[in-house]
Amino acid sequence: MSAAPDEAPPPVAGSDEPLPPGATIGILGGGQLGRMSAMAAARLGYRCHVFAPDADSPGMQIAAATTVAAYEDEAALRRFAAAVDVVTFEFENVPAATLEALAPLAPCRPGVEVLRVCQDRLAEKEFLGRAGVPVAPWRSVRSPEELRAAVAAVGLPAVLKTTRMGYDGRGQAVLRRAEEAADAYGRLEPKPLILEAFVPFRAEVSAIVARGADGGLAVFDAVENRHRDHILDVSLAPARVPEEVAAAARGHAARVAAALGLVGVLALEMFLLPDGTLVGNEIAPRPHNSGHWTLDACLASQFEQHVRAVAGLPLADPARHHDAVMRNLVGPAGLEAWPGIVRRGRAAAHLYGKNEARPGRKLGHATRLFPLGALAGLAEAEFMADL
Ligand code: AMP
Repeated sequence: MSAAPDEAPPPVAGSDEPLPPGATIGILGGGQLGRMSAMAAARLGYRCHVFAPDADSPGMQIAAATTVAAYEDEAALRRFAAAVDVVTFEFENVPAATLEALAPLAPCRPGVEVLRVCQDRLAEKEFLGRAGVPVAPWRSVRSPEELRAAVAAVGLPAVLKTTRMGYDGRGQAVLRRAEEAADAYGRLEPKPLILEAFVPFRAEVSAIVARGADGGLAVFDAVENRHRDHILDVSLAPARVPEEVAAAARGHAARVAAALGLVGVLALEMFLLPDGTLVGNEIAPRPHNSGHWTLDACLASQFEQHVRAVAGLPLADPARHHDAVMRNLVGPAGLEAWPGIVRRGRAAAHLYGKNEARPGRKLGHATRLFPLGALAGLAEAEFMADL
């Protein structure tokens, strides 16, 4: 196969050598996850080149190089591949075709297979089941008839979801009565849909795992997540659950990363049932909002582990040196909280450089640290003070 003049050969494909300092990591996506990954990369001596459709995105503001182009722009993708040593992504709705176009030109970590599983709730549920993670009963729904059959099989209440492009609770409807099904089916787009049994959970828990190019695993402590208006509000690290539950959560995340052959970081979101069982909900194959506390409470954050993995470096020790409570600053109320958080100076404060405080937009976060083991004994008013 002859290469076009602007195509450099893949610089580290097939090589087990870590990227040397000064190498360039290409990041698809310009959001805060890419921004914080680029900051971690800079600390390790790497440059980042951010490719995203929007100019002045949070990631671009701090990148060494930027490409503003559509993910479908093949010429821009070729130039990007030639300018970087490895490609990663910071959100999982990058079109799979984009990674397919890049894969022959530069190493892509994680690869397109990981993206495919995590972009499709049907593939994801099947995968979780195969990886040994319990999931709620579910059925695929491609027609109103299939929905009726799914309701009969799964029972009510149930949650009807789009299989693609859903996030932060968008693209889903809770069905409590059979009569609600037709309306929800008509409203939810794009099809096909998935119907899942409603899980009467006691808490939402997530675990974040990094897997290196050498197959090494580093799992952060599992955390407890609280949502407001379907958006993550607060993460408590560690989750206030018995150690065997926490260990099971970490184990599920590790098994998923290994089964996917991941090189990078993923978050596994789970529901905790009253009997202590964990039910897998979603895989996010990238650093995750519920892991932002690792920036301040661990030697190496989830972002650094992500960079280490994609750069072929060994992973760092994921041990937590403090308990932590992370609060998301979501627009516009989050922006109002910001001056007080900065003035009090008792929480690690992070802002993402977004110029619009639209409702529901994640603008930053703040993390309070507590001595190891202290969080379990604190009341809500104590650990939320100063956040
Ligand atoms: P998801 O987009 O799948 O992460 O869902 C967003 C939120 O909806 C979750 O964090 C849960 O609070 C709720 N949810 C999703 N699926 C279910 C389910 N099967 N049972 C109960 N609640 C759910």
